[in-house]
Amino acid sequence: MDTTLESALRGAGLKATAGRVAVLEAMESMAHTDAERVFRAVSEVLPTTSIQSVHNILADLTTAGLLRRIEPAGSAALYERRTGDNHHHVVCTQCGAIGDVDCVVGEAPCLTPSSAGGFTVQTAEVTFWGVCPSCQNAA
Ligand SMILES: [Zn+2]
Ligand SMILES: [Zn+2]
Repeated sequence: MDTTLESALRGAGLKATAGRVAVLEAMESMAHTDAERVFRAVSEVLPTTSIQSVHNILADLTTAGLLRRIEPAGSAALYERRTGDNHHHVVCTQCGAIGDVDCVVGEAPCLTPSSAGGFTVQTAEVTFWGVCPSCQNAA
């Protein structure tokens, strides 16, 4: 078991269960991953795990700030380890490939609306849509 991941979990106030460690470990090598893919990777290490427990673990890790959840229109919820830098995403309209785009400001909200109608703005969710390099090459 990876002790760095265990201490990350404890630092976030969570118990370092085998399931949570396995999910974080699987996510180290995957960016923008849906629960189904996480489940397939985790069940290789923990054959007794279920898709429902993977969903629960992903929700707990997201609430604790260890994972970030994004949900581009038309896509399942996706999770990533890169948290806390307010980065944005660019999504291919043809194949759904997702890339990270650094936020120039680095913290939320990085955009200020001209008028927020009295709301206190906490975050701006920016998704860029376009065509990825491999779809451009295929065209
Ligand atoms: Zn594409
Ligand atoms: Zn990302």
